[in-house]
Amino acid sequence: MENVTIFDSPGKGRGLKTNKEFWAGDVIFSEPSLAAVVFDSLAERICHSCFRRQDKLQRCGQCKFSHYCDRTCQRAGWAEHKQECAAIKNYGKAPNENIRLVARIMWRLDKDGGVVSDTQLTTLDQLEDHIEDMAEDELKEFKVDIHNFLDYWPRNSKQHTSDVISHIFGLINCNGFTVSDQRGLQAVGVGLFPNLCLVNHDCWPNCTVILNHGNQSAVNTLYHSQQRIELRSLGKIAEGEELTVSYVDFINVSAERQRLLKTQYFFDCTCHHCKERIKDDLKMGGREEDNVKPSEEQVKESTEYCLQMLEKMDQARLKGDYHELVKICKECIEKTEPVLADTHIYLLRMWSTMSEVQAYLQYFEDAAEYARKMVDGYMKLYHPNNPTLGMAAMRAGVTHWQAGLIEVGHGMICKAYAILMVTHGPTHPITKDLESMRVQTEMELRMFKQNEYVYHSMREAALKNRPMTMMHEPKSMEEGIKNLFHRRK
Ligand SMILES: [Zn+2]
Ligand SMILES: [Zn+2]
Ligand SMILES: [Zn+2]
Repeated sequence: MENVTIFDSPGKGRGLKTNKEFWAGDVIFSEPSLAAVVFDSLAERICHSCFRRQDKLQRCGQCKFSHYCDRTCQRAGWAEHKQECAAIKNYGKAPNENIRLVARIMWRLDKDGGVVSDTQLTTLDQLEDHIEDMAEDELKEFKVDIHNFLDYWPRNSKQHTSDVISHIFGLINCNGFTVSDQRGLQAVGVGLFPNLCLVNHDCWPNCTVILNHGNQSAVNTLYHSQQRIELRSLGKIAEGEELTVSYVDFINVSAERQRLLKTQYFFDCTCHHCKERIKDDLKMGGREEDNVKPSEEQVKESTEYCLQMLEKMDQARLKGDYHELVKICKECIEKTEPVLADTHIYLLRMWSTMSEVQAYLQYFEDAAEYARKMVDGYMKLYHPNNPTLGMAAMRAGVTHWQAGLIEVGHGMICKAYAILMVTHGPTHPITKDLESMRVQTEMELRMFKQNEYVYHSMREAALKNRPMTMMHEPKSMEEGIKNLFHRRK
């Protein structure tokens, strides 16, 4: 860890600063998880060793709870599962994900001591648990978890005081990192990465953190089937500068970000972007055309109308009634588009939903138009290397490609590729996907420029033979991972 030093960050407690200069895309550090678990809800669909999503998983014959891709994954995960396996059998069922994670952390610490790897900068007892800041109902659930933990924790494992146990529970409550599947599209579990806990928040950060599962064979040769995160630089960082990541999505207005940070992470954000309310006006503003602006009253009315419609859309989505969803959304867009700025966050949400659902329903041209508006808006709001912007550009690129709009499609895929090279790095599976899409669309673009007719007939044949695998059913696809740290339920 020669790249960073722990220091006292004014007003924030401990933080990390750089020992040298960094540039966009540099990996400042990479860190294995101390422990990680699959969410309760996905216990049968995600491998408990490599955290990949698989159609067919094999169940652990002993506890009948853990699932694995194959024998290799099961063997790789055994060091972490051994004691858990016996505990689940004894307890009669698997406890919830928080309890499972705390138990895995405790077993790991008992085995390896307070510092489990030579790159670990802090012990867990030096990290804050924020138990005193918890609200009453939160504290109640917290105590139920601790109570159940004590029933689950085996008599023959090392016994700990309740202070130690509740400290670890508090720690994962505010520092449990959301673990995603191999493509980074869905949150599948939660893990603890001690060094990452030292990186403070800024709404306009200089770093991003990404989980990289690497290639499967490399994971399997490790004794511990650990997940790995990378802290990557978003731009130039000077020597001695504090490293920051954002715990929340910048798309929210400053007051909303501050509220989320206060309730979930227990601090008041005083970052430059919050203090100056930077871009709040764009996110909630009205459309200006030929120097004519709608009145504040009109903007407010349209904003409230959007909010109501978004609720209705959620209901339609839950019922799986996508045609109803499209109908509500289209009406709302028609009504509010003339009033609201093209960076208004509710309008952006409408466009995003429309592009997602229309692509699912295979109305690709419609989907492409909305996706383009969404990306144009995002570009005015987000940092140029923001990972959410990169993912949105990728989605828009694919949609244009599907619609046969190869020129714009290729351009957007190139844009997404450039961003993800910084935020995800060249070895991440999604960057590799993008690389092959970039090559493919470049070839198609050349073909298109030579002979449009031949291009279109070939494309149609290709679409018939190879259904695009990018588009999941909208309700099952999360738009990236919104929260850096997982909140216990
Ligand atoms: Zn696996
Ligand atoms: Zn087992
Ligand atoms: Zn802030």
